[in-house]
Amino acid sequence: MSDRILLVDDNKTLSKLISLKVKSELNTQIDIAYSLAEAELLTQNHFYTLAILDLNLPDAPNGEVVDAILKQKIPSIVLTGSVDKAFRTSMMKKDIIDYVHKGGIEDIDYVIDIIKRLFKNRRHKIMVVDDSSVFRNQMKKMVENLFFQVFALAHGEEALFILEENPDIKIVITDYNMPVMDGLELTKAIRKKYTKNQLSIFVLSSTDDSDISAMFLKRGATDYINKPFSKEELSCRINNAIEALENIDTISNFTRRDFLTGLYNRRYFFSTVEPYFTEEAALDNGFVTAMIDIDHFKNINDTYGHDIGDKVIVHFSEIVRSNVQHHDIVSRFGGEEFCVLLKGNTKEEALSVFERITQTVAMTPLMLEDGSEIVFTISIGMVFTCENTLKDTINEADQRLYEAKKNGRNRIAY
Ligand code: GH3
Ligand code: MG
Ligand code: MG
Repeated sequence: MSDRILLVDDNKTLSKLISLKVKSELNTQIDIAYSLAEAELLTQNHFYTLAILDLNLPDAPNGEVVDAILKQKIPSIVLTGSVDKAFRTSMMKKDIIDYVHKGGIEDIDYVIDIIKRLFKNRRHKIMVVDDSSVFRNQMKKMVENLFFQVFALAHGEEALFILEENPDIKIVITDYNMPVMDGLELTKAIRKKYTKNQLSIFVLSSTDDSDISAMFLKRGATDYINKPFSKEELSCRINNAIEALENIDTISNFTRRDFLTGLYNRRYFFSTVEPYFTEEAALDNGFVTAMIDIDHFKNINDTYGHDIGDKVIVHFSEIVRSNVQHHDIVSRFGGEEFCVLLKGNTKEEALSVFERITQTVAMTPLMLEDGSEIVFTISIGMVFTCENTLKDTINEADQRLYEAKKNGRNRIAY
């Protein structure tokens, strides 16, 4: 189901502005209600991902809309002109996502940013580990309110088991004192497998002994927070942590991948595949190495220009990707030269994969905007064994590729 946001606010100018920003920046549908009654009517007819609520409405002057909307299990952000501190505190006690004071345009931008963050959070998994079921459930609710996928566990051993099954968990929030395996043991165990660039650990504890917090931080905890703490502050810290992890991921993708095609680059290929290749060779699991090169690519560049040449490279890389499996490795070595490793295939299966790729390339020209078509072909050199080193195997595939070129191109040599 696609996302839909409910905005309840009687200020027409402001509502229109928010609505425009939501549509343009979030590309999400938004409905406006100018009163509680209108809001209730809308919620009867639509499913809302999220609501933005004004506290002072003609038919609900004291924030009554919050309970009414939360009762329908719609996660809500409060956006209010009120500066009353006690009122704010009473609102923060409810399970709202955030309480934003609408002072100026930057507050609207803040709300848009929060929603962007929430939508991204849905991709991420968080684990909450605490032996107190009351606290665990509170935390679970808080993290669910930030749109994360949440696992809630009672001690470290359970947590490790869940982490084993969900290696993509990004944040662990753990208590210190727990039966079976405490937070410190859990932190140490997690850090044997995950670096701080891969997973963040938050420790929440009522021990305000600074030796203990230092010990956690030395053992690889990302942050140590004393109980009781502000839910609002923890939410901000968690959102910051996940944003930092996303940024690290983006940067490491830049160093791993080829900019034009998004395929692994040569450097990453050798650093990662070498140990993997040696392992597979020992297991004799059927590893097939192929070097692929586009035929007469220089002519394409010379005839149509470098930009179209680039498009041919991307077009070709998409054909390869859609014809191999997820666990196979495709890398652009440079220019119009690619290396493909197929895993777990017999000779015949591998050959049929590469025959399919060769034929698909020859039969699927790149279509240009002006309607013209660029027909091109590829040549492939294949090696079925992995008894030599990766480098030697690739050299051998290169020699086969050279034969394929010499024998007329648009063919496979092995
Ligand atoms: P063959 O059939 O023997 O493979 O001939 P070829 O013309 O495909 O091979 P050659 O090695 O002579 O030419 C490859 C050309 O690819 C030369 C180079 O300028 C061009 N090239 C290298 N990298 C890129 C790139 O990223 N984009 C584009 N458009 N061209 C590139
Ligand atoms: Mg109002
Ligand atoms: Mg070529």
